[in-house]
Amino acid sequence: MNDVLFQGIGMTSRRTRDRLIARLREQGIENDKVLTVVRDTPRHIFIDEALSHRAYEDSSLPIGFNQTISQPYIVARMTELLLEDGPREKVLEVGTGSGYQTVILAQLVDQVYSVERIRPLQEKARKRIQQLRLHNVMLRHTDGGMGWPDRGPFDGILVTAAPEKVPEELLEQLAIGGIMVLPVGDGEGQVLMRIRRTAEDEFEREELEPVRFVPLLAGTVR
Ligand code: SAH
Repeated sequence: MNDVLFQGIGMTSRRTRDRLIARLREQGIENDKVLTVVRDTPRHIFIDEALSHRAYEDSSLPIGFNQTISQPYIVARMTELLLEDGPREKVLEVGTGSGYQTVILAQLVDQVYSVERIRPLQEKARKRIQQLRLHNVMLRHTDGGMGWPDRGPFDGILVTAAPEKVPEELLEQLAIGGIMVLPVGDGEGQVLMRIRRTAEDEFEREELEPVRFVPLLAGTVR
């Protein structure tokens, strides 16, 4: 972990952050590497100042443009599910948003490719990622329902906005042995899914738990 991260964290007491980690453990998060990275990542820099005092609560918070920064529990859970079969080299994230999940991933996998459809959110996220001196993140302003074809295949895909059904393009960009974690469903009900590509034409699907994400939307916003 670099010292810039620690400086950021100086603002919030170790106790506050340990309390968040204890809560995540109670909720069933078991991967110690994930828990350590969540504990040591300054979540307050991903949130507007007016709300930053709530950064270490386990809740999602608004980040503008009708979007939210994901709840720490869900970030930890999705990351843990992605890493369960072993380390990942190349991970695609769909929905950069604040960049918080991106930064958690960047500390646990070799390379993160993250796409966002709303340009101003992407620009803010880029500044935060630079501030934290993480050099293994590539961002792109695009409709992530299409994935990032010229960078694929990916051995991990994590989607942080909910499509009504699993996008074909993303399945195609998943490497054999790759894992995709995503919410699927509409405003009424969504379920967290994990899909493993076990062979060229073979996908294993698991439905894990009910979740609430903003919808995956088509097109881009400048
Ligand atoms: N991982 C983010 C979650 C942000 S909310 C965080 O922790 O902050 C989900 C994000 O997905 C929003 O920023 C939204 O604009 C983005 N999104 C929705 N549909 C998208 C699409 N088709 N392509 C790329 N990004 C999309």
